[in-house]
Amino acid sequence: MSAKKIQSALSDLSIFYDKNLPEMTINIYLFASPKESSGIGEGAILKEKGITLEIRNLKDIRDYLLIILHEIAHSFLEKNSVEKVEKIVKKYKFPSNNLIKERGKTNLISELILSSFVPNGYLIEKYFNIPIRKMTKKYIQITQKKLFFAKKWSFLEKYIVFHLYPLAKKYIENKKKLDENYIKIAIETTIQAIKFRFETHIFSAII
Ligand SMILES: [Zn+2]
Repeated sequence: MSAKKIQSALSDLSIFYDKNLPEMTINIYLFASPKESSGIGEGAILKEKGITLEIRNLKDIRDYLLIILHEIAHSFLEKNSVEKVEKIVKKYKFPSNNLIKERGKTNLISELILSSFVPNGYLIEKYFNIPIRKMTKKYIQITQKKLFFAKKWSFLEKYIVFHLYPLAKKYIENKKKLDENYIKIAIETTIQAIKFRFETHIFSAII
C-alpha cells in the first residue's frame, strides 16, 4: 500500500467534504501489543500531529492503515459537514433502535457516510483493488439466509457500503460534493437496514 494511494484517497475525500486538508505532516506511531488476540485495536487516537495505533497482528497492516485513513478523514474533513447532516437528519423519523440511542442520529449518519468510502467502502475498491461490493453483498446474503447474529454495527456498515456503492462511485468520479441528496439516501438506507435486519432478527428470535 503506497503513500501515494492514501494521498489520492484523501484528496478524493477532501473534494467530497469540500474541505482542504491542512498542509502538515502526520506522524503515525505504531505500537505492538503483547496480546495474542487478532483484530484491530481500539481505533486510532489522533493527537496533535500524530496518530497512535495499537498493532496486534502485523499481517493486518493494510487494515490498520485504512483505519488511519478513516480517522484522518474524521478529524480534518468530515467534521466540516456535521451541521449539514444534522439539518437533514431532523426531517426524518427514525425507528427506535439501540444503535441510534447510543450514537445519536447525526453522529451515526455521519459515520455511515464516511464508511461508504473508508475503511471498507468504495475508495478501497478504487485504490486497493479490494472487491468490496462483492464482499458486502455476500455478507448480507449469508446474514439473511442463516439469520446468525450479526453484530449490529458491522451489519449496518456493510449494508450501507453495498447500497451506497453506486452513488459513492458516481460522486467521486464526478467530483461531486456531499449534498442533500447523498445525505437523504444515506438516511433512508439506514432506516431500511434497521427495518430489514434488526426487526426480522427480533422476529426470528421470537419464533
Ligand atoms: Zn469513524
